[in-house]
Amino acid sequence: MRLRSLTKHIKDQNWFAVALDFFIVVFGVFMGLQVSNWNAARVDRADEIIFLNALHQDIVEAEQISKRILNMRLARFNDLENAVDILFERVPWRELSNEECNAIGNSHVAGIIWTDLPAVSGLRDAGRTGILHDDTLVQNLATLIQRQDAMGKIIEAVEITTVDLPRAYPDLFKITPVKIPLGTETGQTEYDTVFVCDGKKLQHSRAAMNALAVNIEGYDGVVNLVGVKPWAEQTNAVHMRLDKILSITHANEETTP
Ligand SMILES: [Zn+2]
Repeated sequence: MRLRSLTKHIKDQNWFAVALDFFIVVFGVFMGLQVSNWNAARVDRADEIIFLNALHQDIVEAEQISKRILNMRLARFNDLENAVDILFERVPWRELSNEECNAIGNSHVAGIIWTDLPAVSGLRDAGRTGILHDDTLVQNLATLIQRQDAMGKIIEAVEITTVDLPRAYPDLFKITPVKIPLGTETGQTEYDTVFVCDGKKLQHSRAAMNALAVNIEGYDGVVNLVGVKPWAEQTNAVHMRLDKILSITHANEETTP
């Protein structure tokens, strides 16, 4: 239609009308593109909100898990340090407690199993990470992924050097299974183990003492330095940022570091 009118105006040498026709065509195309850009941006914003809410859900769950694991590992590390202080005679001698024997017997198990955040993997697989426009959140997420990678690497490296002491030195440990109640109301129980060890016998085994020294170094690395603690802290940092963006406040103060 526009083309026919353009041909007629050229034939009539009506240059003003020709220019007007050109302008209308160019303006029409420009507006068409602009509207489609606006629409794409609107869809991106809507998808971003959906993603942020899904990520918040994932991170709340991840944070609960990481905090629980961190507390368990820190408690065991504390028992391990106390036991090592006694065995290496940095403090006056006393018999080791069951918890300390348990910590020594499990000193090769510092690693944890974790999962990626499903919302982040989904966004990355769809190639849509570009919809995120909060730079701090993007940075925090990148750091979290780096720390997860670092944690995986140190767990792998440490597992090669650490020693399962009760298996390597069965004469030094006695392990007894016990049934303990799971909560008060359910009546359910689970099996746990009680470790008993003889500190003096342990001290006289040079090989076991060497293995223990290697284990505590590895445990410290996995829990405190490059592993679980920095990962748990970064999970919390992502959560804080998300709460800020989404204006979420939590009734209890669980999310404060
Ligand atoms: Zn939150």
